[in-house]
Order: sequence, then structure tokens, then C-alpha cells
Amino acid sequence: MNHILLSTILLFVSGSFFCQSNWTGNTSPTYPELVEHLQQLDKAHKELSMYNMGPSDYGLPIYLFVINGGKDSIRTFAKALAGTTILINNAIHPGEPDGINACLIWLDQWIAQGKPLESKNGDKLPVIAFIPAYNVGGMMNRSSTSRANQNGPEEYGFRGSTRNFDLNRDFIKMDSENAFTFAKIFHSLDPDVFIDNHVSNGADYQYTLTYIASMKERMSPEMKELTYEKCIPFLTKNVEQQGWDLFPYVELKGETPAQGIHAFNDLPRYAMGYASLFHSISFTVETHMLKPFPQRVQATLAFMEGIISFTTLNALEIEDKRSAAKLWARNLEHYAFNYQLTEKADSISFKGYEHSFPVHPITGLKELSYDRSKAYERMIPWFRTYVPTDSMKVPLYYVVGGQEQDVIDRLIANHVIFETLTKASIDTLHVFSVKSYKSPSQPYEGHFKLGQIEVGESKRAMDLKPGDILIPSQQDAALFLHASLQPRAEDSYLTWNFFDSYLQQKEYFSNYVFKDQIAEILAGNRTLKEEYELRKATDEKFRNSEWDQLYFIYSRSPYFEQTFMRLPIYQKF
Ligand SMILES: [Zn+2]
Repeated sequence: MNHILLSTILLFVSGSFFCQSNWTGNTSPTYPELVEHLQQLDKAHKELSMYNMGPSDYGLPIYLFVINGGKDSIRTFAKALAGTTILINNAIHPGEPDGINACLIWLDQWIAQGKPLESKNGDKLPVIAFIPAYNVGGMMNRSSTSRANQNGPEEYGFRGSTRNFDLNRDFIKMDSENAFTFAKIFHSLDPDVFIDNHVSNGADYQYTLTYIASMKERMSPEMKELTYEKCIPFLTKNVEQQGWDLFPYVELKGETPAQGIHAFNDLPRYAMGYASLFHSISFTVETHMLKPFPQRVQATLAFMEGIISFTTLNALEIEDKRSAAKLWARNLEHYAFNYQLTEKADSISFKGYEHSFPVHPITGLKELSYDRSKAYERMIPWFRTYVPTDSMKVPLYYVVGGQEQDVIDRLIANHVIFETLTKASIDTLHVFSVKSYKSPSQPYEGHFKLGQIEVGESKRAMDLKPGDILIPSQQDAALFLHASLQPRAEDSYLTWNFFDSYLQQKEYFSNYVFKDQIAEILAGNRTLKEEYELRKATDEKFRNSEWDQLYFIYSRSPYFEQTFMRLPIYQKF
């Protein structure tokens, strides 16, 4: 293993390069500068192309830059779909532009090397595609101040999009135009590997380069093994050969690293969580905010080179395991969700700085401080086991009401396959009724996102109408389907408020009329009468409230609207 590794490090790009680069200093290009530079490269080199992939909320397009594509867009995307492909996303948070510079340096080096399409051993370069800058609106909103704790570059964009969304929470709900353009890019390439480049916040420690891998418990067995047993060890070794330590993202369990770090739960709302629904090997690269920008860029570049080497050397295995993962998802019998971190801890050797809590001269309070003159390396707890607290049996089909165009648009954007009913029919289906939920008092990412959802299921003969859609679970987009349509899943469309209109009762009754009808209703329903009498006998408030008593009977009578709290999503088993 070792000699193979040594001989294949930096497969395509030698460690030293002689070209002059504009991208190694403490500056990062503006969006117009970036686009113009890449357009020039596109014109100058037949192996490089840039495509306008669609709009952003800002109005300017989102581009895709492709290295080693085909002769035109049709052949490029066909090649990406058929072969092994890496997709890199830059500047979803434009205040964290390290990936932009890293990609530009990689290009300069590759051109200076004579644009090699094969390694010395004859391994073929994958298709490498990158989104130069995804959050276009944030790119256009530049300053030197919005990243208060970050060490460069001199100027950078803003985290929020034009509509002030954090686009790295938008991959399921898709509020932004950007998200629709991203889905188009993603599914046009079907990337085997996906990288999202970021800069960290939080604790201080020695590492410049940290990574987040997709939560292993949510992955198919094949991709879990490939990612955790093969890819991460390879990357760790590879970037070490390039002079960098690679460490898992320092997500603190407590206030300091001493209490340990934990694995990140990459829900589908995040870029990498979304990519992992489609079985891409997904990483978020997080460079450390307090390290100088030029150094962070080099570390991001090292990770990029590592992942290109891994993908090149393992192309066939990656293709095979992704195919197996797709098959696994198509044939899932149960879908697990609502994952919780467990208290089970491994340990990991960590290079940190000693901390203390000196009294701050202005606030007068004891505040956390790291001492960079006191570096240490010691074992800390590493919590990296999640367990699902819920699971559901996967239906043969989902049915979604044709009136739910916003949902259907998102399914289409994600290449979900379905059939549209052309005539009315009746089918026996499992129906979801929301029993209870909580909504927060403050919005999150443009939504009052519902939580603590309880849902009942019942089997009924349902009237289906033309336009309703029938979606088989056995398809490549199966995980996207379950993540968005299972009402209690963490990022379901119910939680993101797509079905709020069904949670409001539309008809009521007038007490003075309805009270004359209750005798007849109770006479016709012995069970209801017994429940009612019991409640009256045992509940004083109920006994003294005309409204409560009438509503109790009304809500259990045929007069009550059948569709209240019933979701326009049905399941067939
Ligand atoms: Zn970020």
C-alpha cells in the first residue's frame, strides 16, 4: 500500500510549480473578475469549458467550470454521467472564499504542467467540475468586516444570499433560484465525489485543514466502507505527504476540545447531506479561520489534490460502489430518521492549544482564551456514533396531490420519477393525519419550521384526481423522496411549511344550532355517547364548557371536515 501511495502522490501536479499565480496572496477575486478570468481560460484551452447553468437570486448566472469534459456541453455532461466525476462547490458562504483561490491555483498549475489527462501510470483524469462561486448575491456584497474573527483575505463576500438565506440550509426546501440551478448542475453531472469548501468558526487549535464526512449511519454499507475505510485514510496520508495534517472538523461537545468533539449530522438541508442522498462521496472542507488566508488556500488545494488522486486511482471501485448504493436505496425496506448522537465515545489524538478562563478587563467576566504558545497533543473523546430514533416501512408508492405544485417542482428538479394520473380513480391508501406539532416563535431560514411532529396513519379509500402523481419508491432518488415526503423526517416538506394550509380548520358550527343536533348524533353512535358521558363525569372543565362539549361531539361526527390535518401525501404498501 505504502509504496503505491508514495509513487502516486500528486499524480498530475508536481509539488513545485513555476508559474506566477495571482491567487496565492491575501486577496480573492470579485465575482466579475472571477468570471472574466475563467471565460478567458475557456477560450484559450479546449480541455476547459465554462457553462452558464442558470440563474441565481441576484440575477447574474451561476456558472460551472469543467476540466476534461467533452467537446461541447452535450458531450461534457454525457461524459460526466458515464464516467467518474468530481464536483467542487465554492463560496456558498462567500466570506469563506478559500476554495475559489484553490481552484484557480490548481488550474494554473495544471496548465503549466502541460494539461496532463493521464497520470504517469496511465490512470485517467476524472471529469473535474467546479462551481466558481455559488452564492452570487453574497459575492456581490463585499466587505472586509463581515467575518469578524477571520484572518483574511483583504476583502470577501457575505454569508447571506440576496434574499438573506444561508444557502447551505436550502437544498431540500429550495427557496432560492440558486438551489434549482444547483440541482440542475448536480443531476447533469451525477458526481461520484462532492466537495463543499468552507472556513470554520469556533475553537482555536493547531490544524489548518479539517473535513466533515457524511454521517456514516445514513450511508449505504458500500459507501460507508469506501468513505471511512478507504477514502479518509488515503486523504489523511496524501495531504500529510503534502505537508498538512488532516483532522475531523472540531465540532465541540462542550465549551472546549477537552470535553471532546463529535461527528456532524449532515442533514439533507446541507450541501453535503444533499449530495449524500444521491450516494456521492461527500466532504465539507473547513479551513481554520485564524490561519492566514494564503495558508488556508494551500491547505484547501492539498485536499483537492488528494481527492483527485483518490478518485483517479479508485475510479472503477467508486463507480461500482455507487451503483451498489443506488441499488441498496431502491430496495430499502425501512427508512431510518431522527438520528441522535450517542454517548459512546472513541478517542482521537488532538493537536490543540492550552486554554484558560482569565477575567476580561472590560467585561469583568471569566472568558475562554487559548494560548498559542502552549501547544499540546493529547487524546480527547470523539463522539461519532448516531442512532436513528425513528424508522418507517418504505411504501411501494407515494401519491402526492397534483395541487402541490411547489412540491412537484422540487421533485422534478431532483429527477424524481413519477407518473401523473390522467383520470379519476379510487384507491385504498395509507393517509397521514397530523396529530400535533410545535412551531417556533422566531423564523429559521425564512420558515417557522415545524417540529415535534406526531402523525397518525389510517387506511382509506381515497378519491384520486387527474394531475395527482404516483411516485415509486424503487428509484435512484429514493432517499431524497423519503427525506422530503416522510412527514416526521428531519427535513421533510411538512417541517418546512409546505403543507401548513392543511393544518387549519376551515368550517366550524354555531353553538345555538348545533346543540339541537347532538341528541341525534349521540343516539346514532353508542361508542361516542359512552366516551362523551365518561369525559363529562371525569373532567370538570369539560363539564362546565358548552363549547368543549359541542366541539367534542362535532369533531367526532360526520359534520367534521375530513381533510383537517390530513396531508396531501398518501402511501401505498
Ligand atoms: Zn461556511
